[in-house]
Amino acid sequence: MFRSRVELKTPEQLRHMDAAGSILCEALDATVAAAAPGVTTGELNDVFSEFIARRGAKPNFLNYHGFPACICTSVNEEVVHGIPGGRVLEQGDVLKIDGGCIIAGWHSDSARTVILGSSADGTADPADERLSEITKGALWAGIAAFAEAKHIGEVGEAIEEHITSQKGPALGILEDYVGHGIGSAMHMAPDVFNYSTGMKGTKIKPGMAVAIEPMLVRGGIDTKVLDDDWTVVTTDGSRSSQWEHSVCRHEDGVWVLTAPDGGAAELAAHGITPAPPA
Ligand code: MG
Ligand code: MG
Repeated sequence: MFRSRVELKTPEQLRHMDAAGSILCEALDATVAAAAPGVTTGELNDVFSEFIARRGAKPNFLNYHGFPACICTSVNEEVVHGIPGGRVLEQGDVLKIDGGCIIAGWHSDSARTVILGSSADGTADPADERLSEITKGALWAGIAAFAEAKHIGEVGEAIEEHITSQKGPALGILEDYVGHGIGSAMHMAPDVFNYSTGMKGTKIKPGMAVAIEPMLVRGGIDTKVLDDDWTVVTTDGSRSSQWEHSVCRHEDGVWVLTAPDGGAAELAAHGITPAPPA
């Protein structure tokens, strides 16, 4: 029988992960701020890579199974793993920026969706804004579940519940890509599904850290990989959103490692007060 070994971190190791998460959060702030019509995805990669280098962090995406950049930039029907390059961003684009970095050997991983424009002035599609808002809400519902869950399966149940309880057109939950444990490597056990699998999953213990990352689409959930061997797109061309945070559990509670405030503002709506690792 396959047995996945979950890495349990000491408080000191979680503090390194918190440092990596804080740098990543600020690097994503800078990268999101630079995202605008006329800017290339390659220029965004430069903003990110120069930021983390200045802060003494190493990229963990670069050369990961041969990936050629420090962030993934996935636009519109591109779901994940888009390679930054010469693509020029346009008004109304739905851009997913996924990045990570390493401090003292400890990893962080986080992603955001950026909509270039606003439906308020007609420069973005309100259905894209809804897609991103619901995906972000699903992430925080998953994090809130992780804060109090006994088993990792409860995270996917909460994510699915958040999505299926929304009024309006149904959104698809991607099944081909899932969240993961994180720590001394970027991708570790356990898998963190974005839907109910009908199984409890791994027991949650203090010292556990996971990256929770729901990916939703406005159409069908089938995906394919482009000829660059990386970029994942929806088969039907429908637009997608991804939001991701790295989160840990410890003796005193939960802490969102890649949020500026440990997740306090967003988790307040769920009645949860996060605590930093001691
Ligand atoms: Mg990521
Ligand atoms: Mg991830």
